[in-house]
Amino acid sequence: MNESSEFSLIQRYFSNFMVEREDVIVGVGDDCAVLQTPDNKLTAVSIDTLVQDVHFFADVDPYRLGVKALAVNLSDLAAMGAEPAWFTLALSLPDIQHEWLQAFSAGLADMARQHQIALVGGDTTRGPLTVTIQVHGHVAAGKFLRRNAAKAADLICVTGFLGDAAAGLQYKLGQLNEAVLSAADQQYLVQRLEMPTPRNHIGQQLVGKAHAAIDISDGLLADLQHILNASNKGACINLAALPLSDSLRKLPLPLANQLALTGGEDYELCFTASAENVDELSQQFPGMIHIIGEVNAETGIYYRDAQGNRQRFSAIKAGYDHFSS
Ligand SMILES: [Mg+2]
Repeated sequence: MNESSEFSLIQRYFSNFMVEREDVIVGVGDDCAVLQTPDNKLTAVSIDTLVQDVHFFADVDPYRLGVKALAVNLSDLAAMGAEPAWFTLALSLPDIQHEWLQAFSAGLADMARQHQIALVGGDTTRGPLTVTIQVHGHVAAGKFLRRNAAKAADLICVTGFLGDAAAGLQYKLGQLNEAVLSAADQQYLVQRLEMPTPRNHIGQQLVGKAHAAIDISDGLLADLQHILNASNKGACINLAALPLSDSLRKLPLPLANQLALTGGEDYELCFTASAENVDELSQQFPGMIHIIGEVNAETGIYYRDAQGNRQRFSAIKAGYDHFSS
């Protein structure tokens, strides 16, 4: 692609859906964007790359890819309690397909409008299909969420349902017994994989109420472990309290639990907070906040089985072995 075609690509597909923000002094179209950080605010920054055949299938719906590429980045802002503000996009394309670009930018635009985040710059090159997005959000000094401040006796909570995206992936790979899933279940699970719903509205309200937070991209146990390591704490999970969607419950319970614990790409939030604050948050977000366990002073992740006995995670499934160390 020469410079003029690159320029026209960004102009043509990615500058018309601009979210208008007063803090964008210069947006797409010049050598740099010029941005105004509000007084007394700090900037939270995160970047994520999605690569074809690694993070998505070659035949993925381009609208959904646009949604997901921004959603996974917004989810990191949610985990810090940051208010979404700006993003930049680097797009590598094997060739220019106008229909594909139109659908992709429509997905991106819908997610951007929903979260009032403005595209402020972009770059396109020829190459294997790769989408890189960097997001910027506003936080107030000292008022953002970290992974390292979980306290003993905190409740461990998650938003939404867990395991759906992993089930959607297994379904797409032909690894699920499809007979137990209705067409609506199949659609729901694949939608949860392909169009995650970042929880920014909840993340921003966790500031000052949660002690530690993370978004669940690699699976609950792996991401909770990041909080516990950073906080030098342990946890006990109540398996019966894992929030499973009606569709996921159609699968055998051990599989549903395993997907909820270790499946990735849910893009829900996991946080720890005092019982009092969890109560308040549950009233603020009815049906969205699920208490799944509590933080322990001693390290190690345990679970409570159906009989109420405490077990080490490594004991129930070979796949959890890396949690035994
Ligand atoms: Mg993250």
